[in-house]
Amino acid sequence: MKQDFATLNTGVKMPMLGLGVYNMHGDVAEKAVAQAIASGYRLIDTATLYNNEKEVGAAIRGSAVARKELFVTTKVPNTSQGYDSTLYAFDRSMKLLDIEYIDLYLVHWPIKNSRKDTWKAVERLYREQRVRAVGVANYLEPFLDELASYSELVPAVNQVEFSPFLYLEKLLQKCSVLGIQLQAYTPLVRGKKLQVALLTELAAKYQKTAAQIILRWDIQHGVAAIPKSANPERQVENLNIFDFEITADDMRKLDELNEDYRIVDDPMRML
Ligand code: NAP
Repeated sequence: MKQDFATLNTGVKMPMLGLGVYNMHGDVAEKAVAQAIASGYRLIDTATLYNNEKEVGAAIRGSAVARKELFVTTKVPNTSQGYDSTLYAFDRSMKLLDIEYIDLYLVHWPIKNSRKDTWKAVERLYREQRVRAVGVANYLEPFLDELASYSELVPAVNQVEFSPFLYLEKLLQKCSVLGIQLQAYTPLVRGKKLQVALLTELAAKYQKTAAQIILRWDIQHGVAAIPKSANPERQVENLNIFDFEITADDMRKLDELNEDYRIVDDPMRML
């Protein structure tokens, strides 16, 4: 299936659409990742916190697709933040995944008091070429500003909660100026808003589904997305968004759905 790629500030290419695997465990996770790869997914977004790196790795090793065609993200767990513990957590993820290398290693949350040491360890992993790119998650503007005061690297990716109902326009602009690729998590608002009238109207107009309208909106804003689905039909649906274009007028209408609606905790509480 057709796909778009972002070129990260490290020169690495990252698929704009990937599979999120939060809340998938055991055989369900392994099967979902295997199905996704067979359907054309090339990016898998896991985290130590999701407790499925072993199954994600097994699905990747078992797939017919070459490792270099795939892009695998995992994240430092909050409980391992700090310098030495981050290095240890990375080694543990490497062992569990068992897939030669990790493409992108993210600081999962800007945890108070330990995020600086965590980032310094992540920088070291990148400097020692143990990972192809490093980045952050849940870094709203104040966290990016603070990071810039001590970082030797610009994060390649910032993964944040982002949807038409949480349109973080200023953060998107800032990341674009800094050369940080924004990546939307919980892009489908966990299915809670798919019945909103504008989405069903646009779905009918473009002969697509509400989920596809949201994901296409991300792509046209230059935002990568990682919808989660364990269902093979919905996986295909979510990837099938590279064959149509939303008009500028409809993009504006979607932007106006913003209501600062969050599913996940507000990172600002970490300030
Ligand atoms: P999401 O992708 O917005 O929504 C997933 C939910 O929507 C699942 O219940 C799924 O059910 C359903 N769904 C998927 N495709 C659908 C479709 N086309 N139509 C209708 N329903 C659909 O939520 P999420 O899993 O929270 O977020 C995605 C990924 O982002 C996570 O898996 C994780 O990788 C990442 N994430 C990162 C952070 C962070 O702090 N960095 C936080 C949260 C999430 P089925 O499985 O039954 O299809």
